[in-house]
Amino acid sequence: MNKVLLLKFGELFLKGRNRHDFIKLLKTNILKKLHGYECRLEETQGRLVLSGYQEQKEDEIIYKLQQVFGLIAVMDAKEIDTSMQSIESEVLNIDLGGVKTFKVSTKRADKTFSMTSMDMDKHLGEIVLDKFSNLKVDLYEPEVTIYVEIRNNGKTYIYNRLHKCAGGLPLGSAGKGLLLLSGGIDSPVAGYLMAKRGLEFEAEHFHSYPYTSIQAKEKVIELAKEISAYCGKIKLHVVSFTEIQEQIHRCCDSEYMITIMRRIMMRIAEKICEKNDLGAIITGESLGQVASQTMQSMNVTNSVVTLPVFRPLIAFDKEDIMDIARKIGTYETSILPYEDCCTVFLPKNPVIRPTIKRAQELEKNLDIDMLVRQALNDEEVIEINNY
Ligand code: ATP
Ligand code: MG
Repeated sequence: MNKVLLLKFGELFLKGRNRHDFIKLLKTNILKKLHGYECRLEETQGRLVLSGYQEQKEDEIIYKLQQVFGLIAVMDAKEIDTSMQSIESEVLNIDLGGVKTFKVSTKRADKTFSMTSMDMDKHLGEIVLDKFSNLKVDLYEPEVTIYVEIRNNGKTYIYNRLHKCAGGLPLGSAGKGLLLLSGGIDSPVAGYLMAKRGLEFEAEHFHSYPYTSIQAKEKVIELAKEISAYCGKIKLHVVSFTEIQEQIHRCCDSEYMITIMRRIMMRIAEKICEKNDLGAIITGESLGQVASQTMQSMNVTNSVVTLPVFRPLIAFDKEDIMDIARKIGTYETSILPYEDCCTVFLPKNPVIRPTIKRAQELEKNLDIDMLVRQALNDEEVIEINNY
């Protein structure tokens, strides 16, 4: 008997001829995630099987696999050579202490095996009942389901526990974007959700040192580390916004400050995308959350770029965003009280329905090309890998 992990992947089935590439990518990502662990990963009949690892590392490995997009569940299973006797003995070995109801669910790919799946369910159910007289079979809502998978290759897998994984599509299957990463609650979650759909990303953070503190930057590095556990390696571009903000502050209507700031952020982001071959900009905006996130505001900021802007949180309530932040472990870092550059010169009455025309008029007071160029010249790049 060998202990193995059966890895179940989801939507990949939908992808027809791309399936092969997706599985290859998923396998690469799994092996990257388990870098440093001794193990073997094989594909058999719609499943991946991980074996050859140290048994005492199993919990750690499961925890890591739960962060790999594209997997929907991990089952810790026993692998045995197929025979009625060995199946019976492994099923009877399962610890059912404290359990009141169960069922057996057999899948028989090996049609040469003597019993049908249904007969096996019944037979194994009976021997379990013989051994544990206090148990009952419940076919609809059992506390425990004993799964028996009889494969074509002479192996049978037996398991009764399923560890839910992150789901989604393999990282890298959707290309690469640029996440605008502030120190807030929303943008790390936005990055996580896009990565879940297979998009890798680099990140960009604007700081306004000395108006914003060194800790504010460290907080963003920490957030990038936290999401990197799911989202893979992140190249973080740290860009100074101080000069830009001071100039905007000096020569624009205060109610348009945030609008102009956002437009310049987008222009810088697009330049970084061009230089690094990134195909989309990602933000943590949510419709109506603040003045700069009304439909009109987003239109005015969007209009300066041609790349698609992904806003995965657009229809999310703050509460729901916070729930995800807690689940992925960014919440506690996000609520640390350091200022973001957007809050430094925050106007009292930011415009709620800005127009492109007015924004363009105000921008005539600024040498935008020069400001963008200067900001990009001074960028600092930090490589983060916590995958
Ligand atoms: P978050 O919680 O992500 O900070 P927020 O609710 O505070 O979002 P805003 O401050 O209006 O909203 O920012 C909207 C989006 O703009 C952010 O989600 C992020 O994608 C981007 N953004 C804001 N500030 C910065 C910054 N300093 N650096 C990089 N991107 C930023
Ligand atoms: Mg913010």
